[in-house]
Amino acid sequence: TNNYQRSALDRVIKEQSAEIVAGGSVFYNPVQEFNRDLSVSVLNVFARRLLKERNAAAKKNVKEGNIETNNIEDNALTAGQKYENGLRILEALSATGLRSIRYAKEVAGVREIIANDLSKAAVESIGENVKHNKVENLIEPSQSDALTLMYLSTGNDKHFDVIDLDPYGCPNRFLDAAVQSIANGGLLLVTATDMAVLAGNTPEACYAKYGCVPLRMKCCHEMALRILLHSIETHANRYGKYIEPLLSISADFYIRVFVRVHVSQAKCKYSMSKQSMVFQCTGCETFTLQQLGNVKVNTTDKGKSQTKFGIPTGPNVGMNCEHCGHKHHMGGPIWSYPIHDQEFVKELIQAVNDKPLCELGTQRRLQGVLAVVQEELFDVPLYYVLDKLCCVLKLENIPVLKFRSALLHAGYRVSFSHASKNSIKTDAPATVLWDILRCW
Ligand code: SAM
Repeated sequence: TNNYQRSALDRVIKEQSAEIVAGGSVFYNPVQEFNRDLSVSVLNVFARRLLKERNAAAKKNVKEGNIETNNIEDNALTAGQKYENGLRILEALSATGLRSIRYAKEVAGVREIIANDLSKAAVESIGENVKHNKVENLIEPSQSDALTLMYLSTGNDKHFDVIDLDPYGCPNRFLDAAVQSIANGGLLLVTATDMAVLAGNTPEACYAKYGCVPLRMKCCHEMALRILLHSIETHANRYGKYIEPLLSISADFYIRVFVRVHVSQAKCKYSMSKQSMVFQCTGCETFTLQQLGNVKVNTTDKGKSQTKFGIPTGPNVGMNCEHCGHKHHMGGPIWSYPIHDQEFVKELIQAVNDKPLCELGTQRRLQGVLAVVQEELFDVPLYYVLDKLCCVLKLENIPVLKFRSALLHAGYRVSFSHASKNSIKTDAPATVLWDILRCW
């Protein structure tokens, strides 16, 4: 039936502040609780940051006499209250409305949330759940194709400060509309669950969807994050926009990225230097990155600095591997700039730690993942997995900690990646890794 009715298939679900009914045909996945807890926490920190930036801009305008009053909210924000200058959020693919209800009840500094879904049954369930949770003041249920809704919201006064895309599988068909309907400096939250494609099982499908050739590598989870970021950046660049990743997480069977989208034609010129091709040896699996572009700041004779954009020379797919002589596979381009913002991660950890313990169902896991993220070498893309390195040299497995300390003693930096527990992220050249292992 199309009419919303309680049926034997309905389940009552309680997740943190929200209590919802998930009907038989409406999508609900309990495993995504971590994703929702993380998103609520990120939005709280982001809301504070955005409102602070807006307050500062408004104060400057008042001082310069451009506007009479800044009409801005005070800094002590409360969840559940409506703020006229707060965040305008679109949950484009909302299903039961659970995520939107949690944003309404748990994120401070919200103006309004559009909880949208294409399915009539889903939108009826959103309506019921919104009423049941008494958040009609903040949430407007909407039944529309997400693309149409976003394309109709590309005018300045209609832009969203936050767009959450949580589709089945690949998010790519929604990205063109999303980067256009997001406000300058707004936050895009994107989930992708098509991990087999991103991990290189069908490179032709990944190229068609994400514009990137994936490689079957041990670091496939971070590679997947970088493929998605590359794709969002290229969509943004078409409209004179560029992305600033705040946090990029690989968890369970999906990846989730949180990126700000800014407007600047000038900054788009730097985009080429944030992407790289990846060369992977078909014998020992050593990888090398080759930036698509490089940036040089030259000082001219008159003392004026000038930025030059160049195409670098570097490893070539035709060249054999310097370590074992095999040929290379070539993949990419991927996003090779940092995937997290260090300052944002610090604030986020603080915010999660400040919460009463167990306020979030997955709080301990969140703390654990974010602690590893904070330690990650932000400027070193991808990682090796020690078991695989040992396997290439037919060595017995070596304890990760001992290998890490060998690298540290040799004067290099090393960290784990949150995406794999046996990972070795290091700025040591591959020759050093192989030398250490050969002497083991
Ligand atoms: N965000 C939800 C959560 O946290 O529970 C789960 C969303 S579920 C994975 C995907 C939803 O997208 C489904 O409810 C489906 O009806 C909806 N959907 C699929 N295509 C759509 C489209 N073009 N426009 C709007 N909604 C769509």
